[in-house]
Amino acid sequence: MKFLIIGQGLAGTLTGHRLEEAGHLVHYADAPEQTAASSVAAGIVNPITGRRFVKSWRIDELIPEAKVLYSQLEQTLGHKFWYDQPLIRTLYNRGDLNDWQARSADPGYPEYMEDQPDPGKIPELTDSVFAYAGVRHAARVDVAGLVQAFRKKLIQENRFQDEEADYAQVPVLLGAVAGAKKGIKSSEDYDHVICCEGWRVRHNPYFRYLPHGGNKGEVLIVKTKAPLLDRMFKHRIFLVPLADDTYWVGATSENHFDDDSPTPANRKFLEDRLAEILTGTDYDISSHKAAVRPTVKDRRMFIGQHPKVPGLWILNGLGTKGASLAPLGSRWLVESILENKDIPAEVNIHRFTSR
Ligand SMILES: Cc1cc2nc3c(=O)[nH]c(=O)nc-3n(C[C@H](O)[C@H](O)[C@H](O)COP(=O)(O)OP(=O)(O)OC[C@H]3O[C@@H](n4cnc5c(N)ncnc54)[C@H](O)[C@@H]3O)c2cc1C
Repeated sequence: MKFLIIGQGLAGTLTGHRLEEAGHLVHYADAPEQTAASSVAAGIVNPITGRRFVKSWRIDELIPEAKVLYSQLEQTLGHKFWYDQPLIRTLYNRGDLNDWQARSADPGYPEYMEDQPDPGKIPELTDSVFAYAGVRHAARVDVAGLVQAFRKKLIQENRFQDEEADYAQVPVLLGAVAGAKKGIKSSEDYDHVICCEGWRVRHNPYFRYLPHGGNKGEVLIVKTKAPLLDRMFKHRIFLVPLADDTYWVGATSENHFDDDSPTPANRKFLEDRLAEILTGTDYDISSHKAAVRPTVKDRRMFIGQHPKVPGLWILNGLGTKGASLAPLGSRWLVESILENKDIPAEVNIHRFTSR
């Protein structure tokens, strides 16, 4: 079958890869001049989140699924994308420590929670803290590197169109308008069109009815003169080691914003938080970036077929956890299209009615 995917961020990339693996032809339309969340994300996979130290939704399934898919892509594209990286987080006071210890006794938690982790060089770099805790099975996915490497392959194979989708053409692309002039160079109609536009899906007239949110995040990329850390550290913000003595520092979180550009105020916020972590270490700020996370009010992905347009699908709403959610989300979507399997009700777009 022949597919068109609108948007080649993480959602579009993983969906297209699965379809190609199943022997199908996949074309993409993406407007790359827009900032994609996938190009700004650290790609942290964090099984224990929030102040209440709760296990991430379906994390026991998500991690094995993600490891298999990213490792397949590593082989296909010849790059490394998945990094097992311990995560150390600060416990700020006795209450935190008590909560952490109580939670780590709950069924299903001990394999993810460590009371006395090895903090590596963290105590040498930071002011002393009340205590450290360790999150096991944490990892980092090089989401930006994956999207770029996949795009390079698509361009080489002439399957990538650098253009904004023209939604008025969707019925034509799907062959629903007999004899109509096609908007995209193709000798045949597409069997399916899949929408993966991240936060900008709000401009898609077919899926605008879904309750899309948006959460803007800003980050700094800093470079140090010598290696600092070999593990991820969370102390109000995350400090994540990348390659070549470079670190991802972030992120801010805003539900109300004017645009998706970086702001001086948020840069200052991040610099101040970083100064609290790296006391006495020199670093240069190499970049300051912003993007919008595609969030959903009920914090579950949007997966499914448009209720009135057969062949038109969506994978969106990856929110703050795309690196871990997208592998399983893309499988549910692809198995529904190819094998007519049910999409779990909690992520199926049919939980919302179209107007
Ligand atoms: C600051 C920040 C930090 C984050 N950190 C993490 C993290 O540590 N771990 C984690 O798991 N997740 C993280 N995330 C979330 C993660 O980035 C997202 O969940 C995920 O990348 C969303 O992928 P997506 O493909 O749905 O959207 P996007 O990456 O936004 O991709 C959408 C693509 O669609 C294209 N597009 C949009 N509209 C059109 C159109 N009309 N026509 C053609 N193309 C179009 C865009 O150009 C873009 O390329 C972070 C996000 C941000 C902003």
